[in-house]
Amino acid sequence: MYLLNKYIYAKFIYMEILACPKCQSNSIVKSGIIKDRQRFLCKKCNYYFTVNKLGKKIDSYYVTKALQLYLEGLSFREIERIIGVSHVTVSNWVKEYKVTKPNHTDYHPTYKIYNHIELVEFLKNKEQLKGAGMIITELGDKFMLIKWARFKD
Ligand SMILES: [Zn+2]
Repeated sequence: MYLLNKYIYAKFIYMEILACPKCQSNSIVKSGIIKDRQRFLCKKCNYYFTVNKLGKKIDSYYVTKALQLYLEGLSFREIERIIGVSHVTVSNWVKEYKVTKPNHTDYHPTYKIYNHIELVEFLKNKEQLKGAGMIITELGDKFMLIKWARFKD
């Protein structure tokens, strides 16, 4: 997990600031000047746009969280619900960063969002720490706890 995160962070250093307004891809090239404005072409969906129509850049923080959740076995729609980025975009990121998740067959993740006090309360109960393990990850001003439960044979 640690190595993987390092790999993902290393890629972000080279991420372009421009994003396509249509597909949010960063594969953008300059494509002439139209009426004194720089025009760009998205190499992914072939959409032309000018600087007045810049795509909103999604913070790499959310890309990391989305890929992390994907690796933990959550579906694109679950990820959409949690971080508020469309499942299509999440699916594009998975392709863009060539993330392949291992098959989760003998355990499945459950996730909960807690604020700090709720998280402390949850962890007070030692029984909650038993089982197949968990990770806690910061999510805005809250925390997400992903816990694995093993399927019983
Ligand atoms: Zn595009």
